[in-house]
Amino acid sequence: MISVEEARALLFDLVAPLPAETVPLIEASGRVLARDLRANRAQPPFDASAMDGYAIRADEAVRGAMFKVIGESAAGHGFSGPVGAGQAVRIFTGAPLPAGAGFVVIQEDTQQSGDVMTITADPGTNHNIRPAGSDFAAGATVPAPRRLAPADIALLASMNIADMPVTRRPRVAILSTGDELVMPGEDPGPDQIIASNSFGLHAMLRELGAEPRLLPIARDTLQSLREAFEAAEGADLVVTIGGASVGDHDLVGEAAARFGLERAFYKVAMRPGKPLMAGRMGAAAMVGLPGNPVSAMVCGHVFLAPMIRILLGLDRHVPDLRQAILAEALAANGPREHYMRAVVRNGEVRAFDRQDSALLTVLSQANALLVRPPHDPPRRAGESIGYLPIGRAEGD
Ligand code: AMP
Ligand code: MG
Repeated sequence: MISVEEARALLFDLVAPLPAETVPLIEASGRVLARDLRANRAQPPFDASAMDGYAIRADEAVRGAMFKVIGESAAGHGFSGPVGAGQAVRIFTGAPLPAGAGFVVIQEDTQQSGDVMTITADPGTNHNIRPAGSDFAAGATVPAPRRLAPADIALLASMNIADMPVTRRPRVAILSTGDELVMPGEDPGPDQIIASNSFGLHAMLRELGAEPRLLPIARDTLQSLREAFEAAEGADLVVTIGGASVGDHDLVGEAAARFGLERAFYKVAMRPGKPLMAGRMGAAAMVGLPGNPVSAMVCGHVFLAPMIRILLGLDRHVPDLRQAILAEALAANGPREHYMRAVVRNGEVRAFDRQDSALLTVLSQANALLVRPPHDPPRRAGESIGYLPIGRAEGD
């Protein structure tokens, strides 16, 4: 049995960044930028007023000074002439600053009567001007790789970039296996249960930026598994669920081997999730997850999430553990790394009493996996301990 760290390293070697595709701005949020982009223009492209007021020469901004108003500069409609001594141009936010002007007196500090404007209050030292290029210069770079957030989309739009190269979404085929499984919404027989973690993993993978696809449930026969692997054709990653242990009906390992799996490892010293297998299967990476609902989801957080990051061209990234204070003592851990379902609130972490890997109710209440290294000694309340945040933010 290998350690979680060794398993992760082997899994990371099974995947590499996918090629790029071009998408329009409107579809780019959440995608990973594949190449550095450069601004096609500066922003603002001209010295612009930051306020509504009057543009005057820089050295004339004193209380009591009077000016002749010679025109107007509005957003989208600049004033063409220069501003001389004793002259002012009525100006609005976002409008180009006229030549010669070096100060915008805000409207609130002025009074206008006919074409004469008087500065009625101390105009202060802020020029109220956004210099050309003060947000970014032409040629400024947005570096790749980077998962594009809404603020990046706004930035790229203002750089006049309408289409951009992003890493293709990883195609992930998800395969539930088991004679006992039916799909949600179907009518289960007395010995049957509903396939659940396949849907949980589908949701998780979609959030991670992948393009997951649920395959029809495979039965516990080599023939059915073979057909399922054929249906997974075209996937970058094939994820099977269940059938990975040593029981008589656990045929995933054998079926995958017959289908050409070059196995990288089988079994990891972790709890839950021990019967994990992985390798290359043709053009795809294959990860065989254990069937227990919580095991499969925990392995999704611990292993699939960083694999998707690599496929997307992001850094190899082992999520850093956060630290919280233990609310209750914990007994010594055994020889396997334990990912305990837990709740973190206000910097305090509390593991659930029930840690059985079949309990989805507990997983759904958890917002953290408290991580116990192999042979971790007993821990007292008040000690600091590492955890992996999962699911919702506090309060959601
Ligand atoms: P297995 O690894 O196939 O022996 O499955 C272990 C346990 O997980 C069994 O109780 C299965 O019924 C259950 N299980 C397997 N696959 C799924 C699935 N997709 N959804 C929910 N439970 C599952
Ligand atoms: Mg099974």
